[in-house]
Amino acid sequence: MNKEHVLDHLKSINYPGFSRDIVSFGMVKDILVEGEQVTVQLNITSQNEEKKQEVISAVKKELAEHFSTVTIEVSADAPQQGGPIQAPQNAPAAILDNVKHIIAVASGKGGVGKSTVAANLACAMAKQGKKVGLLDLDIYGPSLPIVFGINEQPAMTQDKKLVPLEKFGIKVMSFGFISGNDTPVIWRGPLVSRMTEQFFRDVKWGELDVMILDLPPGTGDIQLTLTQKLRMSGAVMVTTPQDIALADVRKGADMFRKVNTPVLGVIENMSGLELKGQVDGNISSMTINGENISVDSEGGFKFIMELFKTGGGEKESKRLGVPLLGKIPISQEIMISTDEGIPIAQKDPDSTLGQIYHAIARKLLATLD
Ligand code: ADP
Repeated sequence: MNKEHVLDHLKSINYPGFSRDIVSFGMVKDILVEGEQVTVQLNITSQNEEKKQEVISAVKKELAEHFSTVTIEVSADAPQQGGPIQAPQNAPAAILDNVKHIIAVASGKGGVGKSTVAANLACAMAKQGKKVGLLDLDIYGPSLPIVFGINEQPAMTQDKKLVPLEKFGIKVMSFGFISGNDTPVIWRGPLVSRMTEQFFRDVKWGELDVMILDLPPGTGDIQLTLTQKLRMSGAVMVTTPQDIALADVRKGADMFRKVNTPVLGVIENMSGLELKGQVDGNISSMTINGENISVDSEGGFKFIMELFKTGGGEKESKRLGVPLLGKIPISQEIMISTDEGIPIAQKDPDSTLGQIYHAIARKLLATLD
């Protein structure tokens, strides 16, 4: 077996918690084959001893079948460039190591309510006692300043780290805090990628139970880079019920699958329009659009009018083999509370709508635990 064969074998070993292998991370510095003996030089910059040991044992196990002696030498040099065996460029050196779970909230297209869902889930999880971070990575349309009603800039420490802003007990960061809401759309992939990485490395996030990433819509390079760089627990797909939105969500879910990030579930947003009304007289039920609606003792009634197709989220979650985490109707209250800068899961957690977000958050936390 020669060096190239050994390298091929090492490509099957992923860095713990990542969907990327140790070779593509540039952790394999050199390989020396001498008959029945092999020496692998690894360069692991992470401070996490447990993960280092995991990699070492995985390498030993992988090569033990082919060599009588496997020697591993580990260094922790700064990344270098070049060579056939690539030095680390994106080595996961302690990226967000203090964060227990990273969840991406993603959608196939813009305007389906992804940021609103991300913000409400963050509020619900914080109210349920978790230490939560919310990172808005939607560089072309950062919504967090509006959704959380924040009009401040983050402070910087002496060692040039950004201090995340705090609202509703949640640590938050957004491109919008730095560039205002008028981020130039000409920003290109590499620059966005670099900025994004700074949000992981150069922000003092501290210890968190959950970090929610509000991803930009779509399935482009940014999303792919992100999912490969981070140790993600999973992704939540937000969709509206129409076929056209579902087609995009399918692409998104398939992208996560490709990089081995589990899709934790689908959320159907704008799933029907919630209408409330009042009738006079002694009526206990009535029919709207062929549907039987019950009227309460004070004459009040509620009706969800299906504007689009029904069952889209359900169909998609079945296809993906993941749960439909919840269905959120179109509601003026959600729109108003978002525009006011207080998500409804924060403002009115016991309302029917607040409860929908809280139930989704509970399901997700249960899956993670
Ligand atoms: P995205 O992040 O997918 O682009 P946003 O979360 O920014 O979408 O939502 C787009 C608009 O739709 C916002 O004005 C928001 O208040 C509104 N919106 C989102 N979900 C709902 C809902 N269920 N009912 C009513 N309005 C909603």
